[in-house]
Amino acid sequence: MRSLQVIQGEVESCTKCGLHATRTQTVFARGNPAASICIVGEAPGEDEDLQGLPFVGRSGQLLDKLLTEAGLDVEKDIYVCNILKCRPPNNRRPTDEESNCCLPYLEDQLAMVHPKILIVLGNTAVSNLLSLSQGISKVRGRFFNWYFGGKRTLAMPTYHPSYLLRNGSDDSEPRKQFRQDIATVLDKLREPS
Ligand code: URA
Repeated sequence: MRSLQVIQGEVESCTKCGLHATRTQTVFARGNPAASICIVGEAPGEDEDLQGLPFVGRSGQLLDKLLTEAGLDVEKDIYVCNILKCRPPNNRRPTDEESNCCLPYLEDQLAMVHPKILIVLGNTAVSNLLSLSQGISKVRGRFFNWYFGGKRTLAMPTYHPSYLLRNGSDDSEPRKQFRQDIATVLDKLREPS
């Protein structure tokens, strides 16, 4: 298996899809590669493309706030990455071709990190990673098995923070459900293995 540094180097020089032509830089990960929880989002936006780090814009600030409220230290307890490592122009949805080009990097990255639980944010990440066709409101809040390299990881789909930003205030139903989903993940981590 290649180290995370080697995988990151391959991502930085990747030209497999057209997004390399429009990116400022690639966006690999932030947080702790030894964390028990890995969060997977969709793709970098403008702020992420400029800073080279995932979830550093408005949706990332909300994500960090909700995780911190749940008692997590976002630098220590979490590893954060995306399905795509390059920004789609105008933040459009990733195409299947772009996702298919990029997924092997994510799979190798997750095999190295081997988190106990994956939190998968939003429809695009859920359909790409878990091959679930139902919408996020139907599948959120439950654990699914995700296998890689013969090992099992539990995956919890939940809302993407940009959906939470678009849909109401701090006590909106989707935010309550997001908080419940994080609490379910933390309960699972506390169970004796
Ligand atoms: N949205 C994502 O899915 N990922 C990011 O890194 C930022 C916004």
